[in-house]
This record gives sequence, structure tokens and C-alpha cells, in this order.
Amino acid sequence: MAIIDETGVRRRLKIMLGSELLADVYIKRFGYTIHIAKINGLKLAMEYREKMRNGGVAEEPVKADPETDWHDPIYEIQVKCPACFSPVPYWDQKARALASSLDMFHMPVYKPVGTFRAVDYNLIAVSICPQCFFASPDKKDFIGKDSARMREVPSRIQQGELAAILSSGDQRTSMLEESGLDVTQERIFTRERTPKGALFAYDLALQRALVETQRSVPFALFKMGGYALKQALIARSYGLDETPCLEAALAHYLKCFETSNAPGLQYEGQCLYEIIALHVRLGRVKEAGAYVAVLEKTKAEAPPPPDIPFVRWYNAARELWTDRDNPDLWK
Ligand SMILES: [Zn+2]
Repeated sequence: MAIIDETGVRRRLKIMLGSELLADVYIKRFGYTIHIAKINGLKLAMEYREKMRNGGVAEEPVKADPETDWHDPIYEIQVKCPACFSPVPYWDQKARALASSLDMFHMPVYKPVGTFRAVDYNLIAVSICPQCFFASPDKKDFIGKDSARMREVPSRIQQGELAAILSSGDQRTSMLEESGLDVTQERIFTRERTPKGALFAYDLALQRALVETQRSVPFALFKMGGYALKQALIARSYGLDETPCLEAALAHYLKCFETSNAPGLQYEGQCLYEIIALHVRLGRVKEAGAYVAVLEKTKAEAPPPPDIPFVRWYNAARELWTDRDNPDLWK
């Protein structure tokens, strides 16, 4: 059973439905469990009633059936929120249905394959629990299903962190309220999420990772850096300003490096690569140069034999540093 916080749910319903009155109608009809399909249904019913009242006829939206749409590179599975145990849809990629290249920060840019439709997976990578707004792009963070053994696969997030994330649900509701985003218009909880909706989905994931960071969970800051870089990629792809996301990513990676939040030579290499690339991108060449020196020192002090993933990051950083004045570097 899901863990229900009635006041929080009422507040979330109010934001998701756009009015206190509709939130009350929902609770009377469906209780305190939030289901996106029921919310959408209620909104559609209200809109239909409104249109009929105005003498118009509501048009039925035509929807492709994912079960029979062979050109859809995405499939939906049900996972469970590890914080409040509500069902959450998770959109996964079908095997070999999407190709990707990497941007300069090594974040994936998706391309269609064969007869599959083009889908920007970055927009829907983050799954959000409709009940408590727990959010993550990582399937392993949710409670999964092992159908072969007929049992649940627990989330890899520890109990202490989950309790802290659950109790900070109100903060996530406030984030949505303060963002001023229209949940329905930006289709935040559906597969048709807009770029602005996707940026907010990553904001929720960042809030979750921040709770983990406050509890000194390894790799939490490293993940925050990655989420901010995904936001920068989304912003860039859709003509929005990426600079605040790049600044945030840099701050996360710097803190990650300083606190050794991502232990292991490979992650140290990636962290330094991102710090150097971000400094160059933001026009801080002197700072980038200082971190190239740190990278050289890290390489010189690494025990033999050479760590292959680290060497790859080292080479990529050297290449970027040599090419730093090339105006085509960021295209
Ligand atoms: Zn939840």
C-alpha cells in the first residue's frame, strides 16, 4: 500500500488539476491516491462539459496504441515508487530502436533507427511518482519486478535516504507551485512531456539527489552534475538558455571532485573532463588550464597498470584542451 499524506496529496491535486474545487471532486470520487489517467479523465470530462455548455462539440483525441505501434521505439513498464510505494510509469527504450551520439559533455543525443519513430528520450528519461513527486531517470532507483521469479526487486536507494526523500515531498510540491508551470500544458506526468516539462522533471530528480548529497551518499553529486548537463542539452536542443544549467553542472562537479564524492580513478577522470569542458565552454580558459594540470598530476600519480576508462577521459580532455579555440568545437 502507498504511504498517503492527505494534506500533501490535496495540495498536489490542486496543482495538477488547476483548482481546489476539482481537487475536492477528485478526492470524493477516487480518494487520496493519485492516478494520472484519472486526473486526465476528470480534466477531459470537465472540459467536455464546458464545451457542451457553450454549444460546441468536443473532439476525441486520436491516440496511437503503443501495444500495436511497431514504430514506437519506447515501451512502458510499471514500477513502484520506493518512497511511497505508488505505481509509476517508466518509459524504456526498445532494443536497438534508438541510436545516440554524444555531445561535448558526453551526454546522449538520440536519433531514430530504421522504421522506428524519432523520439527525444531525454525528454521522458525521468520518471516521476504522481503521489509524492519522487523522480529519477534510473530504473534501479524504483522498485522493479522480476517476473521470472515473481518477486519485487528492491530500490538500490537505502531506507534512511528514502525516508528523508518522502518527508521532503512538500518541498517538491512547492517547487512545482513556484515554477508556475501548467502541469497539463507541459504534460509533465505523461509521455508527451514538453522541453519545459522535461527541465522540471530533472529539477525534481536534482531535489532527490540533493537529499542524498546532504546524507553524503556516494555519487549523489556526480549524478547532480549529470542531471544538470542533461538539462543543458535539452535547453540547447529547444532554443532555451543553457547557461544556468552549465553553471549548476560545474558547481556540482567541482564539489564532487573536492569531496571525492565519486571514488575511483575512472570517475575522477570523468569529473575532471567535465570541469575542464565546462570551464572552456563558459569562457574561463585560465581555470580550465589549472584543472588540466590537476589531470596531468592525477595521471602521473596513478599506480600502474594504466586504468583504461581513466585514460579515455584523459585523452578526451587533452583533445578538447588542444582544440579549445576552435569555434566549431561546440556545434
Ligand atoms: Zn511516491
